[in-house]
Amino acid sequence: MKDTTRHQGKRRQLVQTIVSKGIKDTKVLAAIGKIPRHLFMDSSFEDHAYQDKAFPIAADQTISQPYTVAFQTELLDISKGQAVLEIGTGSGYQTAVLCELGAKVYSIERQQELFKKTKLFLSKLGYRPKYLSFGDGYKGLPEYAPFDRIIVTAGAPFVPKPLLAQLAIGGRLVIPVGEGVQIMTLYVRKDATTFEKKEFGDFRFVPLLEDKN
Ligand code: SAH
Repeated sequence: MKDTTRHQGKRRQLVQTIVSKGIKDTKVLAAIGKIPRHLFMDSSFEDHAYQDKAFPIAADQTISQPYTVAFQTELLDISKGQAVLEIGTGSGYQTAVLCELGAKVYSIERQQELFKKTKLFLSKLGYRPKYLSFGDGYKGLPEYAPFDRIIVTAGAPFVPKPLLAQLAIGGRLVIPVGEGVQIMTLYVRKDATTFEKKEFGDFRFVPLLEDKN
């Protein structure tokens, strides 16, 4: 697991690319600049790891495009120590970004293969999420709720009600909603029953899949 000066140089260029696309949050940019993305991918893609593109990982899934990771994380607006729930652990790259921001990270993955592999990999890299769960993200994690922030990293055909219910007052949910193409959507919980909704343009994700059972 090597991180060479060549990797670091490419990573600085990637940060510049993301800045040129409009990302401003310096903490988010610092995390992207620090995390060795090439280690989160199959070694056959290593040369492409610092392109601003999504790539295949195991179990027919993808590691999200860095710009998308940065965009969603900027929208979350995380402060250190906040409880953050991620739906779709996947490669663990977004999980690592959340850890770098000092969040208490909870993450759910429904594919056993990815869940096991990523759990081991993140600990090898020194990341310590609070809890990695093998399960169905549509249900959230009621036993650990409420969450200050919730991020969904797969395309949701609709907004799962349990996720809104598990959001703290003042909390933010960032979720790409739609089939085929998704609209990045932010929900801010104003009080027990009121959610403010804002939309932020089109993205493409692999689908958030319903429980296999
Ligand atoms: N955050 C990841 C993105 C991975 S792609 C990364 O940076 O690599 C989306 C992930 O969501 C996939 O790993 C997929 O298996 C997972 N997923 C899909 N439906 C899910 C569900 N209902 N619950 C939890 N995870 C789900």
